[in-house]
Amino acid sequence: MNILVVNCGSSTVKYELLRMDGETDNKVIAKGLVERIGISGARLEYKTDSQSYARERDVSDHRVALKWVIEVLTDPEIGVLTHTSEIDAVGHRVVHGGERFTDSMVINEDVLNTIRACAELAPLNNPPNILGIEACQALMPQAPEVAVFDTAFHGTIPEYAYIYALPYEYYEKYGIRRYGFHGTSHRYVAERAARMMGKKPSELNLITCHMGGGVSFTAVRNGKSVDTSMGFTPLEGLVMGTRCGDVDPYILLYLMDKEGFSLKEMDQVLQKKSGVIGISGMSSDTRDIEEAAPTNHRAQLALDIIAYRAKKYIGAYYAILGELDGIVFTAGIGENSSLIRRNICQGLEPIGIIIDPERNTVRRKEAFINSDHSKVKVMVIPTNEELMIAIDTYRLTH
Ligand code: AMP
Repeated sequence: MNILVVNCGSSTVKYELLRMDGETDNKVIAKGLVERIGISGARLEYKTDSQSYARERDVSDHRVALKWVIEVLTDPEIGVLTHTSEIDAVGHRVVHGGERFTDSMVINEDVLNTIRACAELAPLNNPPNILGIEACQALMPQAPEVAVFDTAFHGTIPEYAYIYALPYEYYEKYGIRRYGFHGTSHRYVAERAARMMGKKPSELNLITCHMGGGVSFTAVRNGKSVDTSMGFTPLEGLVMGTRCGDVDPYILLYLMDKEGFSLKEMDQVLQKKSGVIGISGMSSDTRDIEEAAPTNHRAQLALDIIAYRAKKYIGAYYAILGELDGIVFTAGIGENSSLIRRNICQGLEPIGIIIDPERNTVRRKEAFINSDHSKVKVMVIPTNEELMIAIDTYRLTH
């Protein structure tokens, strides 16, 4: 069956068309993205095994963008399908599923209404996800749609780990609790890690480290998330490209008073001006930071803080799990940066985490990077959220 995976951001649509003949038998037949939706001069990229294509035109909204995607997929010259009806199902990335969804769901009116209700908790993410779902319903009425939630994998976190020490009434009134994000990525790499180790996910305790533009770590006990570093929003936890991660909450009150920041200005500081770019003052991209670090104190400081805070989380999650079988590094930094992986693992030898410098040079492919003496396996696993979405879509609709 042909499955279209759709990931709608505020001004982008990423898409991937997969042929699935079983959960493990799959092939990407085309993929690409539309950027600058709602801004003049939108651009569509399209790639297949044999060709790549890019065009510009004005695209007013997500529906027009998806119509363009389908036009290209079914184009007589460059397309891979002859008709839209060959798309058997559509899988959507949906950022927030609230407390209700702990697994992916076939979308019906009730599910869609719950996703709409969760938009308040993810105002930047859920609205474009909803637009994408509605557009696909209109364009491919024959194809069932599945929502795969970033929050769902974390539905197994126990109450004592998701309740904040704030007045309990705010949990009841506003749903303020830890939800966690990047769940599709954490689940994917945890399953791959089990496969690499020749075990079932239920036989392993892992710490999965998703380190890209956004960063989150998850403690996975017997295949289930039991704690994760992102919280009520994707702002909490580790140091990210432009997001602050953990800070003393009083700092916000202090700064709002001293700088006279409005809510919106404070939000910009925390989301866009902090993290790696805030510390270094030069870039949010760790490639630039690594290059500058030998001669630039603040770039080096950013690297030191990234590693220091990562160690703190690994230590905390080790304590929670009791027994640790493996650590997984994934996403842009985790898959590529030998330096950051080394910095994080250095000093963790007493708790059984020893990496091998030669193996640690690996980039973007599945590999063990631990030394033979390491009690804990350390792995690099490229994440593949699109594949996980396609697998869930296949599982729920075929
Ligand atoms: P992602 O959000 O997973 O696409 O990750 C993007 C981030 O990964 C970039 O902003 C960089 O900080 C980081 N990154 C990508 N490639 C490298 C690399 N070769 N070395 C260090 N960091 C990298």
